[in-house]
Amino acid sequence: MSYNIALAPGDGIGPEVTAQAVRVLNEIGKRFGHEFKFTEVDAGGVALDKYGEPLPEETVKICKDSDSVLLGAVGGWKWDVLPGDKRPERALLGLRQALGLYANLRPALLFDALKDACPLRSDIAAGGIDIMIVRELTGGIYFGDRGRKQTDLGEAAWDTELYAWDEVTRIAETAFKLAEKRRKKLTNVDKANVLESSRLWRAAVLEVAKKYPSVELDHLYVDNATMQLIREPGRFDVIVTTNMFGDIISDEASQITGSIGMLPSASLGAGGGMYEPIHGSAPDLAGRNAANPIATILSAAMLLRHSLSLEEEALTVENAVKAVINDGYRTPDIMSEGMKPVGTTEMSDLIINKLSVD
Ligand code: NAD
Repeated sequence: MSYNIALAPGDGIGPEVTAQAVRVLNEIGKRFGHEFKFTEVDAGGVALDKYGEPLPEETVKICKDSDSVLLGAVGGWKWDVLPGDKRPERALLGLRQALGLYANLRPALLFDALKDACPLRSDIAAGGIDIMIVRELTGGIYFGDRGRKQTDLGEAAWDTELYAWDEVTRIAETAFKLAEKRRKKLTNVDKANVLESSRLWRAAVLEVAKKYPSVELDHLYVDNATMQLIREPGRFDVIVTTNMFGDIISDEASQITGSIGMLPSASLGAGGGMYEPIHGSAPDLAGRNAANPIATILSAAMLLRHSLSLEEEALTVENAVKAVINDGYRTPDIMSEGMKPVGTTEMSDLIINKLSVD
């Protein structure tokens, strides 16, 4: 099979880590008989420098016409002085909107060999952490009505959390389908004891649940969910939640698994998805062969699974990453005593070597 992938390396370490993910995909292509055709596009600071805008029309068009998008990271010190609408980060929001990406998937996985990197007590981490957070990405308070007005108490401001039934059912469907393929447990996180929007959210999730009897569903209020993530992270399999709650909870979950350099993400919608590491452009590491490429390589594995339905190929990449970590190789961000230090390229070479081994 032949697949078209739009490649947006972006800024800082973005080009270095996406180059490694491309090498991995090409190796997978060789082994399994697929052809991946990459079309490189400009997004973020690099596009600002060339065209004066962070997300050129041509980039949007190529991404829309592709089977999926692999993105590095955008932003950097150079562009920090620009006004909001001219910042490189606008490219991310623009792409999410243009591609209709309403579901953000963020796995939080603690590798056995990296348990020392977990900031939680060792007896809590011992049970393992393997959570998939499904965050609604295009609705809720980040997109609702907002404004300011004068009141007796001075200037006031408001934002509105609004969710429509179909917005909730489509993200719930995504979460139930994922739970079916995993450990069949879904936790809905809301604030239904206080918020009307959460009561509708919960009713819609319960309605979708009728179609997935094999999945065990429970509900947690968001304040309790943030506590349980620290107290007993092993209890979670898939979590589904709103845009704002998901924003907060997914950052919390990423921290309990150690390095930001290890975690991938996927944003899905009706068409092809967009895949990117959760980290930024790390300007402090750019050009030093010191960035951990694993978050981007695992994003490529998610692309294989979720956009191209190539499950075996995705597992092959994930197993290769695990094997290299188990062999004791570490980039600087995950280095610990007695382990073998490697740079960006060497880490990728090791992963690629494992891909050809059955
Ligand atoms: P960052 O994620 O770039 O870096 C935070 C810390 O993590 C730094 O110490 C960095 O060295 C380290 N780090 C990040 N990725 C790593 C990797 N692969 N391997 C090893 N260490 C890694 O966040 P920041 O410093 O707050 O932001 C830098 C720039 O990136 C800013 O311009 C910001 O706006 C942008 N940013 C972009 C995205 C994105 O493109 N999705 C996300 C977050 C931040």
